[in-house]
Amino acid sequence: MDLSLLRSTLEELGQPRFRFDQIWKWTAGGAAGYHEMSNLPAALRDELTARVPFSTLSELRRASSSDGTDKLLLQTADGRPIETVLMRYKDGRRSICVSSQSGCPLTCTFCATGQMKFGRNLTAWEILDQALALRRLDALDHCVFMGMGEPMMNLDNVLEVCRRLPDLGITNRRTGISTVGWVPGIDKLTESDVPVRLAWSLHAPEDALRSEIMPVNERYSLDEVKAACDRFYERRRKMIFVEYVMLGGVNDSVAQAKQLADLLEPWRYKINLIPYNPTDSMYDSSSQGAMEAFRQTLEDEGYNATIRLIRGRDIDAACGQLAAKAANPKLKQRVGV
Ligand code: SAH
Repeated sequence: MDLSLLRSTLEELGQPRFRFDQIWKWTAGGAAGYHEMSNLPAALRDELTARVPFSTLSELRRASSSDGTDKLLLQTADGRPIETVLMRYKDGRRSICVSSQSGCPLTCTFCATGQMKFGRNLTAWEILDQALALRRLDALDHCVFMGMGEPMMNLDNVLEVCRRLPDLGITNRRTGISTVGWVPGIDKLTESDVPVRLAWSLHAPEDALRSEIMPVNERYSLDEVKAACDRFYERRRKMIFVEYVMLGGVNDSVAQAKQLADLLEPWRYKINLIPYNPTDSMYDSSSQGAMEAFRQTLEDEGYNATIRLIRGRDIDAACGQLAAKAANPKLKQRVGV
């Protein structure tokens, strides 16, 4: 819902100020439409239905994984595809993974989103509407900006959404922004008043290899990104999450685990090893043994390091698999949307 359009429309209609909060409360609580808002006059509900679309996005397709993961394929009013994911965990956590851009300009070689055409930054309302669409499916408590796109390239809109997420049940402490290491964005986040967590997609312990698998490293080197993350830590005193996708024979040796350990400090960085999810790229997954040896090496060096659970692989909803396949017109016919 475009909340600035809602505000100006209510003003034009001469509605009292409290209407905005009433409507937002219903929406953030998971209402399906204006018709459910029983404390609004019926005439106002009709007027809003005609003038302020309840969502800026339309749903093209929904897929559910056997592991409790739901993926929505959504579309903006100008036809841009976006994917957004809800993960349900055994301990009761309900975590959402939202997109900040349609497509991504950064071309990381192992990521499906990087291989599709870049569309544009999403508006704050288009990002918020992903969370609201998932809120209508379930209660929520965690959010990561790990869907399509680079959130630090669209940080103002991402932060605007972060300020609203607590109304959906997701506190800022349970919200994480994940970045390839876009230094100006990290610095801006450090200076902001929004106490969210930072995650750095690191993926290689030295520049040459990192540039090979993530071209953005040519622009911001490991040292520069590390310095920006350290500034974030010094200001916030919050552990930074490092994400490290395990590519068989590329970045998964014990020697590379030691290099990674030397690069970081265990009191500042918590390391998440991500099993590589197949995306039609040239890589293979690391073996279970290689991942465990890598994790153990980091732990011996004093780090908190975990291997991330795989979620939603059967519906292409896992990390790096979001590419809006069904938004492709040819495929659209096949899935019947
Ligand atoms: N652009 C941001 C947000 C996307 S997050 C970032 O890169 O951090 C998506 C996460 O999934 C990133 O850590 C990304 O590197 C990782 N990822 C991408 N492709 C993957 C794949 N095929 N398998 C596992 N993880 C992948």
